[in-house]
Amino acid sequence: MKKIISFLIVLATVFSCAVISKGQKETNGKNGINGIDGTNGKDITAGLSLNKKKETSFFIDSTMVRKHLYTLAADDMEGRKSGTVGIEKAAKYIETEFKRIGLTTFEGLETYRQTFSFAPRKGEEEITSANIIGVLEGKSKKDEYVIISAHYDHLGMKKKGKGDVIFNGANDDASGVTGVLALAAYFKKVGNERTIVFVAFTAEEMGLIGSTHFGKGIDAAKFVAGINLEMIGKVPSFGPNTAWLTGFDRSDFGKIIQKNLKGSGYQLFPDPYKNFNLFFRSDNASLARLGVPSHTFSTTAIDVDKDYHQVSDEAETLNMTVITQTIQAVAIGTESIINGKDTPTRVVLKELKN
Ligand SMILES: [Zn+2]
Repeated sequence: MKKIISFLIVLATVFSCAVISKGQKETNGKNGINGIDGTNGKDITAGLSLNKKKETSFFIDSTMVRKHLYTLAADDMEGRKSGTVGIEKAAKYIETEFKRIGLTTFEGLETYRQTFSFAPRKGEEEITSANIIGVLEGKSKKDEYVIISAHYDHLGMKKKGKGDVIFNGANDDASGVTGVLALAAYFKKVGNERTIVFVAFTAEEMGLIGSTHFGKGIDAAKFVAGINLEMIGKVPSFGPNTAWLTGFDRSDFGKIIQKNLKGSGYQLFPDPYKNFNLFFRSDNASLARLGVPSHTFSTTAIDVDKDYHQVSDEAETLNMTVITQTIQAVAIGTESIINGKDTPTRVVLKELKN
């Protein structure tokens, strides 16, 4: 999520003690696994009535969740800054997974890569990077698209300094990309009436550059919804089995998700950080500006998160149970949209003045 420090400091004083103490005590074991979330591959839907209610035979494999996260957040990815060797490694990993899952390429592309060049800032040297796009063609409604996205770039490495100089970006946003890969595997298994376009965007940290580029090349009217995942690795301020959604009042997308999650034990809340203007701070905004009901899911208490845009944003600080359960809740919550039963209202844009 694009830098928003100034507001963080203001709110941190307001929120800090309540959220951190509760979260820390419960989840922040040394290696991110303690008594609570040592799932090691077992089906962790137990206790969550997601399965019982929907009678579906799927589970999000937490072993794969862990593999995706730890691979993308590893030191050898060098913080995945757009235009660097590190992000190239991440791009290859995502492409390999898209192929393994069986996704096809996006219209007009021969590979999963949508490569383009841009100057990060005016007058700066041009760099070349790529959005990684995979498609699961729909059946009865294959001309209607739903996009599931996250950004795979992050801040790279500190130019100078001792000790840890790598911004691993585990929560921001390797956790989201992990969700995109897990949802691709899930919908490949259970099927989809509408076509799903899975995108790992580049250059989000440089100003939503990858998603803006993607938006220029599409017919936005064909896109009925956008599901963007950002920082889904920490226990939210609302407590376990919850997440929040940006732009809740800009379309009825959130209400449809809440309806589908009823009785599941998982709850979705409107984004509580109103002053941060978060709806415009991640890649959902590039689609929303084209009218697509495109929103971001997150679990992180962004007002007090001490690892945000720090070298300490490591996989070990994240909670595997939260990531896996959030991915499952997104799968269940969006099911009626993916299968054409529900169509969210188009986004009406009015920039919130801070
Ligand atoms: Zn981010």
